[in-house]
Amino acid sequence: MEKRSIAVLTSGGDAQGMNPAVRAVVRAAVHKRFDIYLIYEGYKGMILGGNYIRKAGWSSVGGILHKGGTSIGSARSDAFRTEEGRRQAVFNLISRGIDALVVIGGDGSLTGANVLRQEWASHVDVLLREGKIDNALAEKYRTIFIAGLVGSIDNDMCGTDMTIGADSALFRITEAVDAIISTAASHQRTFVIKVMGRNCGYLALMAGLSCGADYVFIPEDPPKPGEWEENMCALLKAGRESGRRDNIVIVAEGARDTEGNPIGSTYIKQVLEERLGEDTRITILGHVQRGGAPSAYDRYMTTLLGCTAVEKIASSSAEDEPVLIGVQENDVITVPLMKCVNDTQEIREMIKAGDYSRAMDLSGGVFAEAYETLKVMIRTLPSGADQGQRKLRIAILHGGGPAAGMNTAALTAVRIGLEHGHTMLGVSDSFQGLINGKIREMDWMSVGGWVNIGGAELGTNRKPLSGTDYYAIARTIEEQKIDAIIMIGGWSGYQGIYNMYKRREDFSAFNIPMVCLPATINNNLPGTERSVGSDTALNNIMHVVDKIKQSAVASKRCFVVEVMGRNCGFLALISGIATGAERVYLHEEGVKLSDLQKDLEKLVDGFSKGKRLGLMIRNERANHLYTTAFMAALFEEEGGALFDVRQAILGHLQQGGDPSPHDRILAIRLSRLCIEHLIGECLAGRKSVSFIGQQKGKVDFVDMSRWTDLVDTEFQRPKSQWWMNLRPIARSMAESPHDTEY
Ligand code: ADP
Repeated sequence: MEKRSIAVLTSGGDAQGMNPAVRAVVRAAVHKRFDIYLIYEGYKGMILGGNYIRKAGWSSVGGILHKGGTSIGSARSDAFRTEEGRRQAVFNLISRGIDALVVIGGDGSLTGANVLRQEWASHVDVLLREGKIDNALAEKYRTIFIAGLVGSIDNDMCGTDMTIGADSALFRITEAVDAIISTAASHQRTFVIKVMGRNCGYLALMAGLSCGADYVFIPEDPPKPGEWEENMCALLKAGRESGRRDNIVIVAEGARDTEGNPIGSTYIKQVLEERLGEDTRITILGHVQRGGAPSAYDRYMTTLLGCTAVEKIASSSAEDEPVLIGVQENDVITVPLMKCVNDTQEIREMIKAGDYSRAMDLSGGVFAEAYETLKVMIRTLPSGADQGQRKLRIAILHGGGPAAGMNTAALTAVRIGLEHGHTMLGVSDSFQGLINGKIREMDWMSVGGWVNIGGAELGTNRKPLSGTDYYAIARTIEEQKIDAIIMIGGWSGYQGIYNMYKRREDFSAFNIPMVCLPATINNNLPGTERSVGSDTALNNIMHVVDKIKQSAVASKRCFVVEVMGRNCGFLALISGIATGAERVYLHEEGVKLSDLQKDLEKLVDGFSKGKRLGLMIRNERANHLYTTAFMAALFEEEGGALFDVRQAILGHLQQGGDPSPHDRILAIRLSRLCIEHLIGECLAGRKSVSFIGQQKGKVDFVDMSRWTDLVDTEFQRPKSQWWMNLRPIARSMAESPHDTEY
């Protein structure tokens, strides 16, 4: 492989997740034995050169994974907007032999990168003419390869579903709004909450969905002046009349009406007070949204993005066009940077020109779909639009252990079903409720407040089906005239629906459409790369491990942390990437005594060379004999006076907690698709049984007939697990190829 010399910088507005991205770029480059430079203070540092561009190594990016902002600084640079400034930047890069650049920034920074790339050759000519570089350098560095990573909390860039920082910003917002809801409800107050997003309403829209807001203003859908005031007041009044104790209005900072007048929080407050007499308060979240530690997603996904950027550099030549490394659903993708920059600017222009519907289309199907869902969710009653058709009775049940986001999915199922004019039935306590007939009709407000509470209000358990259970369930389905079933849950829920599917010949009542929605912290289900609840569990683990790491570093200590997952190592591996664990033990790989011996040698070597902290993450079933206690005791005994070892078994805190915004959004999206799918199946007279999921960049249904092909029934996990491919990345981020650096 040709040796490359890479520089990385962060530019524009800071975003949580920039640090993990920089760390990944540096460490991936070190593994490839490339030269790697950190450019401090963005383009400003690129122009100033000198100590602003520093050669980096493995340990230059130690201890930054969990930090918000950007440790290498970001600045806005007017000089970089000038040709002279950019020429000086080209000189600084060439004179250090840099032939590839990773820019982590917003659309402005990436536009700047694109301009730099386009002008590069002409700058080289001028530098040669001016005698600043010689022929050899001019020949060797005729061009540069650029990889862009989008750092922006607003999620406002085309070409990627998620920008770095958007998930963490949503975390800050949902935490704040959840807290405000409880005080608002106590006093029956109305809150107007202003969130960031000058050109893009992603944060406002997703926060509105995730927190069950009652009204949302986004730049992409400006309302008519005079009309929105009426609409908003009517909706909020109806909410109060139906028993809502809190009223939450979320407004994006760039929200405007169709005349282009900004929709300010003060004016919204005035309208609500004057027309409804509502006790209204304003909360402007401001820079809190940018601050704080990156979320689990903003650590592991950005790590993948950074590693992919270096892979791309290794496989490209300097002549290749600049690329953007982005995300599609759960997949990392590489797309032409130029196109993304142009599309993003086109949306801005469309919004400025008032062409909102095209801007909404270009923003991506998921955005428009989420907005449509929001319009349903903020109602206080179904619109009645679909009345008059055959009225279906759709049952909702859970199965498996509790997972954060189950309630969010159940709430969405109820409201989407009711909106389409059907009867929604809540089944208590999983399959047990189907057996006993413990079923109740759910109305619109019966699920009020479920959007953000952990656990499962309907009840869930892991009861397996056997013997007469099938007969009892068939009788309930007939008695209750159930037309379709949605099961929101984990492995035992899927297994239960699969068993009913297999017994269709014996029980004709089972010949109805059924669908499973993945909701388990273990993320061990076929047909999907992510299950609802797994993101919350990852964040729960990460928060605890962050604290454990802080305590450990004070006293030369190694922690062996045990996480859940049953036989599936997803939580262990991904939390390992998100927390910077040096070793992850998985059931899929097993644990050998020789592995432990090697790990111990590394620990001894590391601590004797000045290392202060060790972190090993172990899946709860990695090996049934080499338990967490055994491993901790082994390391402790053999480590002698060099270091202490402690074990931490995280237990049920991983299943609890309020759902993360990622889980809420996934739950809402999948649940809506499931209910509309079931309705479609029923009305078309089809009786399919399937499971929904997010796979290879899209969301789809997989027929239940594929269950046995796809799963390892002994270990209760998919036969093929996408995240297993991330093991080399986890290792490369944790282990320096040079054994002397700590
Ligand atoms: P963001 O990257 O977060 O969108 P800015 O728009 O402020 O933030 O851009 C950050 C920096 O990128 C600017 O200070 C400037 O140095 C550079 N930049 C932005 N747009 C351009 C452009 N059109 N040409 C050259 N440089 C640009």
